[in-house]
Amino acid sequence: MYALNYVKVKSLAEAAKMLASNPEAKLMAGGMTLVPTLKQRLAQPSHLVDIGALPELRGITAKAGTLTIGAATKHHDVATSAVAKKAIPSLAYLAGLIGDPQVRNLGTIGGSVANNDPAADYPAAVLGLGATVVTNKREIAADDYFQGMFTTALEEGEIITRIVFPVPRRAAYAKFAHPASGYAMAGVFVAQTSDGTRVAVTGAGPGVFRWKAAETALGKNPKAAAIEGVALDAGEMNEDIHATREYRANLVRVMAKRAIAQLR
Ligand SMILES: Cc1cc2nc3c(=O)[nH]c(=O)nc-3n(C[C@H](O)[C@H](O)[C@H](O)COP(=O)(O)OP(=O)(O)OC[C@H]3O[C@@H](n4cnc5c(N)ncnc54)[C@H](O)[C@@H]3O)c2cc1C
Repeated sequence: MYALNYVKVKSLAEAAKMLASNPEAKLMAGGMTLVPTLKQRLAQPSHLVDIGALPELRGITAKAGTLTIGAATKHHDVATSAVAKKAIPSLAYLAGLIGDPQVRNLGTIGGSVANNDPAADYPAAVLGLGATVVTNKREIAADDYFQGMFTTALEEGEIITRIVFPVPRRAAYAKFAHPASGYAMAGVFVAQTSDGTRVAVTGAGPGVFRWKAAETALGKNPKAAAIEGVALDAGEMNEDIHATREYRANLVRVMAKRAIAQLR
């Protein structure tokens, strides 16, 4: 084991200061992704700046057509929150599908969205709902935030403080989970708003993406039959030992139809 400094900060300001004065420091929230990375020596930070217990980064509130979730809020807390279930039931449902009870009791929404694993669940909801990622420096629209595999618009030292979700008319998430890891082989989040329908796909491609042809076909009154013949380029999908590109493309269509059928 190599030496590093663990710092449990008492405020967001202290966390920002630690990052600014230690260029090799790394934030830690739930540690569910970061700790395995350290164990494999894929990262070697000088400091671990633990923001997981900061009260100012936790909590779930609904007001004026939005649901706001603090970055350090655990997946379990979202999955079981009466406020989240009432405002956006599909988001609470999605949180309950992440990993296993251990992961859900430590992992956080901010850590998941910062990490942007191409098979993670939250990115599909953040993009599908057109949410806003709020950091200690600015607000970033979901459409600008996700930039491909493990890549986001976050800059060095920038800390996600909360995610603000607009409450849709109806929404749903359908996930085909890998049986061993629980991550999405394909997960599709569909949101119906007053402007139309948004469709965000995780797990199938190199990063979360909007299936825009499906959005156009679904319009303001989404029906599963509308996406039957809609184009989805299998060449853009991931291929690995678990599934071919064509299989993943088919899964996306099937998951999208299931989500549309479950809109509420
Ligand atoms: C066995 C297992 C199964 C899993 N299954 C799933 C699954 O089915 N679906 C799924 O979506 N995920 C799954 N995960 C991942 C899980 O959701 C993690 O909780 C999540 O990816 C990272 O959250 P964390 O709070 O643990 O972040 P950490 O591991 O603490 O941090 C991850 C990264 O985000 C950065 N970071 C953390 N918080 C912030 C912040 N507020 N601002 C900026 N950067 C920040 C850290 O510096 C680090 O780079 C699984 C993980 C494990 C171990």
